[in-house]
Amino acid sequence: MRIEDPKIVAVLPELGVQLNPSASLAGLTSLGIGGTTDLLRIHKHEAIPDLLNLLDAQDVPHKFLGGGSNLLVGDGELPWIVLQLVSPEPDIVLEGNFAQVDAAADLGRTVTFCAKNDLGGMEGLIGVPGTVGGALRMNAGAYGMQIGSYVREVKLYRAAARKLETLQGDQISFEYRHTSFAPDDMMLAVKLELPSKPYPEILKGIRICNEKRRASQPLGQKSAGCIFKNPPGASAGRMIDELGLKGLSVGDARVSDRHANFFVNAGKASAKDMLALIADVRERVQKSSGVILEYEVVVWNR
Ligand SMILES: Cc1cc2nc3c(=O)[nH]c(=O)nc-3n(C[C@H](O)[C@H](O)[C@H](O)COP(=O)(O)OP(=O)(O)OC[C@H]3O[C@@H](n4cnc5c(N)ncnc54)[C@H](O)[C@@H]3O)c2cc1C
Repeated sequence: MRIEDPKIVAVLPELGVQLNPSASLAGLTSLGIGGTTDLLRIHKHEAIPDLLNLLDAQDVPHKFLGGGSNLLVGDGELPWIVLQLVSPEPDIVLEGNFAQVDAAADLGRTVTFCAKNDLGGMEGLIGVPGTVGGALRMNAGAYGMQIGSYVREVKLYRAAARKLETLQGDQISFEYRHTSFAPDDMMLAVKLELPSKPYPEILKGIRICNEKRRASQPLGQKSAGCIFKNPPGASAGRMIDELGLKGLSVGDARVSDRHANFFVNAGKASAKDMLALIADVRERVQKSSGVILEYEVVVWNR
């Protein structure tokens, strides 16, 4: 979608919003799949209510992009624009055991920055790509930990109230890859409370998690991490593997040979290929076990 309305184009610079016309979502997502649309890069949180009022008044549909590491985006010209936050400098400020982090901050860099300042707890998140905002939305986690355990405060844009608000940690529920934020809430910054730990000890934990990832995941290939959530008490990857589906392909979309819940773009896969592969695997799992796998990847199709 192109923003052609002169009313919007004229106001964007005043709001500190940068317009990148016809951005390729394939280039902005870890799967390397997705068509084109206009991208608005937001430099000031305070501009968000005015920006969204303007887009809504002109009927411009939008979606919110973090680091693009948990997304499967449709092909061709997309029927909505994309908004993305730009990280301020500095994007992490520490005070005692608290880390105030901008939602656009890179998650891995946040984990290592905190670690170097003797703040641990997030070792399992090393190797999870994307932004801190995306991790909050998805309640990202691995190896027995999840980011939600450390959240004490979240600054967000509440679309329902059309304003910026701050929620306390106990006002938000964080469950397995699910949070109580409304679908159109936009996370802007978070205050984390992290346990004190000496850096060498944190580094040991980080190295163990890195090693586990290297041993089990197709890290050099384009993917969006796990495609499906694990059903209660089971592993989606194991269920897919037990059906002998590693290597199953539709075009260049392929079930990883290394981890059956990672589907990779082995060349020039389209969203259509990837969606067909996901539907096929899901149907086979349902036929054999009766379990309907729930998507972990977020699909922006139409
Ligand atoms: C190799 C690999 C390994 C991975 N391993 C793990 C893992 O171990 N554990 C795990 O949990 N995940 C894992 N993932 C998935 C992914 O990295 C996480 O879900 C990550 O937290 C997504 O963040 P993002 O910024 O990339 O979000 P995006 O992919 O950009 O967006 C995901 C969703 O969050 C929303 N969103 C993003 N930012 C915001 C914001 N600021 N406010 C509101 N909504 C927002 C988007 O609208 C979208 O709905 C992996 C992915 C890859 C490619």
